[in-house]
Amino acid sequence: MKRVDEVMREGSLAIFGGAALVVALTAAAANGEMETGVPVLERQALTQGGFAVVRAEPGATMSVGSVSTTADAEGFAFLGIDRNAPSRLVVSIRKSAHQLVLEIGARQWRQRIVSGLTKSTAPPPAAPPKTDGDKKVAALRSRADLQGFLEAFAYPIAINGKFPGFTGMFGDERVYKISGKPDRKSPHYGADIPAPVGTPIIAPATAKVVLADELNLEGKVVFLDHGQGLITMYLHLSRIDVKVGDYVAKGDVLGLVGMTGRTNGPHLCWRAKWRDKNLDPTCLTGQCAQAEPGARAGGAPENDFYDAGEIP
Ligand SMILES: [Zn+2]
Repeated sequence: MKRVDEVMREGSLAIFGGAALVVALTAAAANGEMETGVPVLERQALTQGGFAVVRAEPGATMSVGSVSTTADAEGFAFLGIDRNAPSRLVVSIRKSAHQLVLEIGARQWRQRIVSGLTKSTAPPPAAPPKTDGDKKVAALRSRADLQGFLEAFAYPIAINGKFPGFTGMFGDERVYKISGKPDRKSPHYGADIPAPVGTPIIAPATAKVVLADELNLEGKVVFLDHGQGLITMYLHLSRIDVKVGDYVAKGDVLGLVGMTGRTNGPHLCWRAKWRDKNLDPTCLTGQCAQAEPGARAGGAPENDFYDAGEIP
């Protein structure tokens, strides 16, 4: 197993008032077949779009809702919390006498009108080419044996040493107006970071490169697997500097900001997924970015940047 040098085990990063409770399954424990190891929450952002890192027995199978996963050789398991997750998730651990009950903090999503579009620049309602979908699905199925998910992630962009802020934020409810009329509504699953074309994009944590390609809607993309099926994605690049199979450490350059694919301004669309769950990549830094109510993040016009072709 490839080890990471820098492992943050802060124990608690509770945000938005989420809470966790270990519940002993006394009836199940009484039959003597179950082990009694108590699962521990190692890292967490117990909020919609957040995550939990649970430590249990090495190789333990756990399930949350319909998704099951296997803890790594040290007992760590990453669990993603979807943007639309309910207020309570129960983590069941096979052969354990305990369950973990996660109280998930709800978030408010901004509604954004994306106007100034015409039919030729608007996101097409039709599905993107199947070959692109297949490539993304294959990359999202990657399960690298890494522990990048234990690290406190860095932001992938810095301009003169500073993070430039956001235009679009994870979770935004977007209403696309075409020729002045509302056409489609869909949530935005990326954090859009405005930056000039050519700005370096760095890996936020240890990972394996699982997709480095040019797609129809997303443009030039890099997908990273940080272990346990946690995938982060980088869209609309002008140049890709890594190839599939490369291992990267925090700070390694992945490529350069661009405006390839469906976009009308240079920016990085930063995304994260775990299985079919859409995660807020900013939560992986230890603090989920939150827009001030009614404020425009980054100060840019809200129709400056948009992207279509949501990752499946
Ligand atoms: Zn985006």
